[in-house]
Amino acid sequence: MAELSSAVPGPRPGEPRPGLVPADGGHADGAHADGGGDRASRHAAVLIVEDQPELIRALRINLQARQYEVRSARTGREALAVAASQPPDAIILDLGLPDIDGIEVIVALREWCRAPIIVLSGRTSPGDKIGALDVGADDYVTKPFAMAELLARLRAALRRDEAKQGQPRQVLIGRWLIDLTAHQVRAAPDGEPSDGGERVTLRLTPTEWRILEILLQRPGQLVGSGQILSGVWGPDFLQRTNYLRFHMARLRRKLEDDPARPRHLLTEAGMGYRYQP
Ligand code: CA
Repeated sequence: MAELSSAVPGPRPGEPRPGLVPADGGHADGAHADGGGDRASRHAAVLIVEDQPELIRALRINLQARQYEVRSARTGREALAVAASQPPDAIILDLGLPDIDGIEVIVALREWCRAPIIVLSGRTSPGDKIGALDVGADDYVTKPFAMAELLARLRAALRRDEAKQGQPRQVLIGRWLIDLTAHQVRAAPDGEPSDGGERVTLRLTPTEWRILEILLQRPGQLVGSGQILSGVWGPDFLQRTNYLRFHMARLRRKLEDDPARPRHLLTEAGMGYRYQP
């Protein structure tokens, strides 16, 4: 996995997201215009990852008829390359690909890409679905599928994603203000006075940032240990709960006022962790 993930660039934090137009109707959505001019007229770009040419063709026709911009890839590696060179707004992903498994594609994408991923697969077992959702897929449609249902799920995923974009990327934990966009932690305005006129900042490791991002994106929700482990280290590390305990303890020592009695970074014994705002 390290080899795969090193092939794709890191995220570009803070980069403004292009305004999207609704999938149906094809009208440019003026409400999203933000002075970006041509950006506001851009259609949502969907990346189809599928090895059956006839299915790519059917999806392309249906998506383009609804004003989506369509890209496609027939292998996992091609999908990662295309996604990296032209970041899509949503991804429709087959799991059975000729080179690498779709699950690995999801894991590699999730290292930097937040676009919603809808799995479109012939695998129908609950285990397959849970596995895909646990590593970061947003939805799962089984083949054979109804085009209308897939399109409805795509619209829903894009809507949820748009709503997420509007969420604040700054979160307060105790006396620390966590800026997820700038990747900075500094003393909150009414927190401890700084020593030399400079605001006090705190350093977190890349691993700590990843764990924190996964938790802070789901305020108040229980996040399973497996979900965090696969999101940070990959699907081969689902049993390494000791890694998670170690890093959570460090995060608490850095961020919680009383690390022994955490108020924000909570452990749900035997299940996972919860960020309590
Ligand atoms: Ca396939």
